[in-house]
Amino acid sequence: MGFPKIFHDLIESLSQFPGVGRRSAERMAFYILKMQPKEVSELARRIEDVQKFIKPCALCNNFSTEEICSLCSSPKREKDVLCIVEEPKDIMAIEKTSQYNGLYYVLLGSISPLDGIEDLNIGKLLRRIASNQIKEVIISTDPDNDGELTAQFLIQKLSPYKVKIYRIAIGIPLGTQIEYIDSATLGKALMDRKPV
Ligand SMILES: [Zn+2]
Repeated sequence: MGFPKIFHDLIESLSQFPGVGRRSAERMAFYILKMQPKEVSELARRIEDVQKFIKPCALCNNFSTEEICSLCSSPKREKDVLCIVEEPKDIMAIEKTSQYNGLYYVLLGSISPLDGIEDLNIGKLLRRIASNQIKEVIISTDPDNDGELTAQFLIQKLSPYKVKIYRIAIGIPLGTQIEYIDSATLGKALMDRKPV
């Protein structure tokens, strides 16, 4: 109240971002008012650029400005291992671990009976598997209901092919104590125990 409508409109837009509440949106709007005009135009241009130039990679659906993304075209990646994830942001998380050097496939969603999604369009994935370059698949969908359903669906679809199928291990978090772990996670960790 008491501020121009265009200022409230900006707050309205900013508060639509995930994790940004009303108060943070207000703080961002006040900050934008104090920014240099050059900085504001650059911010606006960058927002437009990601929409305009980023498209799904033709091979893996990862974000890319080229037809084929930098991961798929990298000569340094192992070409016979494929990690299947739900969203491009999962690639970012896995890349941060530096523990994986294969390729990816992004499903762009998961099977979600509550949202009425009973099937996934995985034609591109199956064609890639059928081309016989992939020897190993790691299903890295989320360890929640939809992610598990999606994993089961993928296992069923991939099993006719000559490819080893793995599900990412659901472990107990590092630096924690057994007594504080929720029983679903602890139960899964026990089921997925490995020989030492
Ligand atoms: Zn790619």
